[in-house]
Amino acid sequence: MSTIKKTMSAAVLYGPHKVVIEERPVPTIGEAEVLVQVAAAATCGTDLKVFHQGGHARMIAPPAVFGHEWSGTIAAVGAKVIGFLEGMRVVANNSAPCSRCYYCHRSLPNLCDDLLFVNGAYAEYLAVPARLVCTNLLALPPTVSFPVACLTEPLACVLHCLDHAVLHPGDTLVVNGDGPSGLMLSAMAKQRGARVILCGRAPQRLTLAKQFGADEVVNYAAVPDQAAAVRELTTARRGADVAIEAVGRPEVWETTVAMLRKGGQAIFYGGCPQDTQVHLPTRPLHYDQLALQGVFHNTPYHVRLALSFLADGKWPWDSLLTHTLPLSQLCDAFDLMLRRQTLKVTILP
Ligand SMILES: [Zn+2]
Ligand SMILES: [Zn+2]
Repeated sequence: MSTIKKTMSAAVLYGPHKVVIEERPVPTIGEAEVLVQVAAAATCGTDLKVFHQGGHARMIAPPAVFGHEWSGTIAAVGAKVIGFLEGMRVVANNSAPCSRCYYCHRSLPNLCDDLLFVNGAYAEYLAVPARLVCTNLLALPPTVSFPVACLTEPLACVLHCLDHAVLHPGDTLVVNGDGPSGLMLSAMAKQRGARVILCGRAPQRLTLAKQFGADEVVNYAAVPDQAAAVRELTTARRGADVAIEAVGRPEVWETTVAMLRKGGQAIFYGGCPQDTQVHLPTRPLHYDQLALQGVFHNTPYHVRLALSFLADGKWPWDSLLTHTLPLSQLCDAFDLMLRRQTLKVTILP
């Protein structure tokens, strides 16, 4: 076994906007677990929410380590672990389904009643629990860098989302949102043969969207009516075949529905703040036969698919990682995100 330090630096969340970089014991592992030395972690909108709220209802009760998009090298392997060796480059999803509940048995592992979430990427080491080792820990292909590998989890969510889209070749799909997820949705929808329109408000991101498959972009800050601007870009102003909400704001959910053609489909990808509601007009829902689809998270299948798309190098994945900061400056990373000056920050422990 290589030498592992006894203590490590880790970011500990104590409450809203209270993060302290502390010296903590390196986690010990059980016989079915794996210890990973984190090589890179990426910031995510969810982490920003966690930083803001000082925790997460389902995943994180402070004081706690957090961060969930990471890649690294295996530092130690439990005696009963099969298929993983010390020194292997790996990446994992942030969750693992139970494989036993009603939803797992119905091929809906993203809705697992006992979904295990793993946090603690903003640290030098991370213990990977047995269930995650079995379901969602993957060896990293040599062509995928550690920072790009951190995109595995969010890209898996994007691919899972698009599996719910009823898309025919040449259909117009609208992505509402110019964040990392919006850009990944654009690329993967293009890959599936859609004509993609991306709506956002940051000029730099809208330029980048063209590299991520967008055929047209709409700067919604520059038009009086976003839904009308989208219709203008469709044949006979019919509207979108499929429109995805990738922001997580109730008013954008409503706009997403407003831009559909008759028989069109809205997909709600962005999670809104707790206890929010949307108001939708009943007439088009009924007479225009609109379909509304919520989606959540990802599945082990999509985690593997995501890694294969990261490995094939067709898309400029590394341009989603706009900044790199050491762990000691994690709060600066959140500040950059709050000011919308970064897509994702690579955190180096
Ligand atoms: Zn994430
Ligand atoms: Zn389950």
